[in-house]
Amino acid sequence: MWSLTKATILTLSSTYFLLTTFAFPNSDPLETQQTRDVNSLRARNIVSDSSAIQGSYDFIIVGGGLAGLVLASRLSEDSNHTVLVLEAGESGDANITQINTPADTYYDSLVGSEYDYAYQTAQQTGCSNRNISWPRGKVLGGSSAINGMYLVRPNEPEINAIHSINPNDTDEFWTWDSYYASMKKSETFGAPSADIAAEAGIQYNAASYGSSGPIHWSYPGETFNLVGNWTPSLATLGVPSNPDPASGDNSGAYITTSSINPSNWTRSYSRSGYIDPLPPRSNLDILPSATVTNIVWKSGTSGNLTATGVQWASSSTAAKQTVNANKEVILAAGTIGTAQLLQLSGVGPSKYLQAAGVDVQLDLPGVGQRLQDHISGSLIYGTNAETAGDEHAAGVATAEFLSYINSATAYVNLTTLLGSDSASALISSAQAEVDSSASSLLPLGDSTVAAGYKAMYDTITNQFYSSNSGQIELLLSITSTSVLIQAAIQHPLSVGEMYITSDSVFNYPYLNPNYLVHDADLTILREGFKMARLISQASPISAYLTGETTPGSSVSTDDEWDTWIQGAVGTEYHPTGTCAMLPLELGGVVSPSLLVYGTSNVRVADASVYPFELSSHLGAPTYGLAEQASTIIRDYWNGVSTNPNATTTSSSSSSSSTSGSQESKNNGAFPTFAYGSRGIVCATIACLAGCMMVL
Ligand SMILES: Cc1cc2nc3c(=O)[nH]c(=O)nc-3n(C[C@H](O)[C@H](O)[C@H](O)COP(=O)(O)OP(=O)(O)OC[C@H]3O[C@@H](n4cnc5c(N)ncnc54)[C@H](O)[C@@H]3O)c2cc1C
Repeated sequence: MWSLTKATILTLSSTYFLLTTFAFPNSDPLETQQTRDVNSLRARNIVSDSSAIQGSYDFIIVGGGLAGLVLASRLSEDSNHTVLVLEAGESGDANITQINTPADTYYDSLVGSEYDYAYQTAQQTGCSNRNISWPRGKVLGGSSAINGMYLVRPNEPEINAIHSINPNDTDEFWTWDSYYASMKKSETFGAPSADIAAEAGIQYNAASYGSSGPIHWSYPGETFNLVGNWTPSLATLGVPSNPDPASGDNSGAYITTSSINPSNWTRSYSRSGYIDPLPPRSNLDILPSATVTNIVWKSGTSGNLTATGVQWASSSTAAKQTVNANKEVILAAGTIGTAQLLQLSGVGPSKYLQAAGVDVQLDLPGVGQRLQDHISGSLIYGTNAETAGDEHAAGVATAEFLSYINSATAYVNLTTLLGSDSASALISSAQAEVDSSASSLLPLGDSTVAAGYKAMYDTITNQFYSSNSGQIELLLSITSTSVLIQAAIQHPLSVGEMYITSDSVFNYPYLNPNYLVHDADLTILREGFKMARLISQASPISAYLTGETTPGSSVSTDDEWDTWIQGAVGTEYHPTGTCAMLPLELGGVVSPSLLVYGTSNVRVADASVYPFELSSHLGAPTYGLAEQASTIIRDYWNGVSTNPNATTTSSSSSSSSTSGSQESKNNGAFPTFAYGSRGIVCATIACLAGCMMVL
């Protein structure tokens, strides 16, 4: 999340400087040749001519975004498997300097470019009827190529709640221990220099991060005095500094890690981390500018749907082409793209599919339902201190300066925000609204989807609200000439839906997250902004701020805050929930092994599967999710039977398991998820037991 101020365009000379210095920090006169060599090396597994791809692959990955390229890299480690990635966007090579340069995130952003889908939500009744912009990356690397580069770990209770809400997770793929190990697998931590750590007030525990993974978790090469004032100011408001935010407790105030490669101060993202360093792999092809239009299903079979492949096209007017999948189709097209593609392929709520002119293959009501997002806004202050925006305006273009990324954050729990009496009152009133919220927010009217919403709602109001879990994220942004203190809600009870309105992938779907429709969300966000204002008045940062310009002193009563909030807030860029990992009777779309219910060989592995929002930017957890997905898929097809990170070993004959255990014991045969089977009945009983334990 950041302030999208497009400022001075880099001069030609600084662009040259970036090209040479960023690609080759210790450059010499051979660098032009080196640049050419490296660009061709980067392209080793990327196919520019679609006629070069094969007619069939073992795995077809739809979407070469954050998760998709993790999967591509890991699945193709098995030389016995062939892998194809179809990515709708371009390779990104034409604008690689903008992708690579962290500061371009603010000063020459790719948001709004051809690498951005630039979606718009439906009019938001909770936000003064505004249509709100929803950027999403459309390029190799997906949103990780254009995002704000915050790397924040979710907290342990949230991840364990994913496991609890999925009693069919008998292999414990989604417990904290398993997930934490997967997240670490994707990481290499880089400590800040002593000077940077001292000036910014950075504390860390290197042991809480991975040390040999593809994505760099690091800190900028330059920082500012304002940043160092963040954690002491929060401490005066009862938000303690957290010296170790990456080992399971992410609450409190800290300077978080960013996805920066500290050896050359460039963006570390799924393409640069997982694909570019690979040697040529004859079993991996990545095709950009290839939009998948639909999954192709095996005809004439009863029971589970089986995908035989996909169709894709290079544009809305180009002819469709077909490529076959010998083993699986893996959807990694993101929260919007994956649900859209399932619906276009006849899998989703039949009512919406029929209205869009799509033949229903499988009525799976959860697809596209419970769409939710973090919503945020900014208070703006004048300052007498130097900001990164000032340095940029002055033309500073060192590699260290151009690596500066906002990263001061704080996750604040409900009691600290509201005080214990008001927090208890809010919890009680929210709990009383669960049924009315389910019926008003989810017009589809499906009872399983509503049951899943209520399970999510109970998890938030019974567990997260009364725990140390952050309900508000506060952030400091100094990349304009002003200072922004931002607030973002973390566990919204407001959810909505998305659905296709035509049978073409090239037409954008209807997107409605129902921002701030639930009154608890508005209250929590209002209190978050009040705390943001208190930060501006807290020492030591107050000495550097010269007055609030937005919204200013005309906003002080609750009504005034609410009116301002509804007119001012926007996305924190973290939509999720459209292909939720939940039991089928809770309107789930995928099982704990990420298999789409009612299909035998289609999985989803991207940010769409979280059953509720995490108190985290979604990039870091999605690297872990994609690593875990890769392990699940490889183990299944390689006949490995158990999750080594599980605390208990599940039995292959357990009748209470659904797809998870059955798949992992199949030694390479197609998964045999029994749709509507005895396993579901047992899972329901286990789920009810789990819900009772939550209560
Ligand atoms: C502007 C912005 C700022 C953000 N800032 C941060 C941040 O600071 N920190 C953080 O942790 N997270 C941030 N995020 C969120 C984070 O980047 C996403 O949560 C994450 O990238 C999601 O990963 P994904 O694999 O699910 O989807 P994506 O990374 O979006 O990848 C999906 C890919 O699928 C492709 N695709 C879609 N449909 C099709 C189709 N039909 N055929 C073929 N390909 C298709 C897309 O083109 C895209 O490349 C930000 C996101 C945005 C947009």
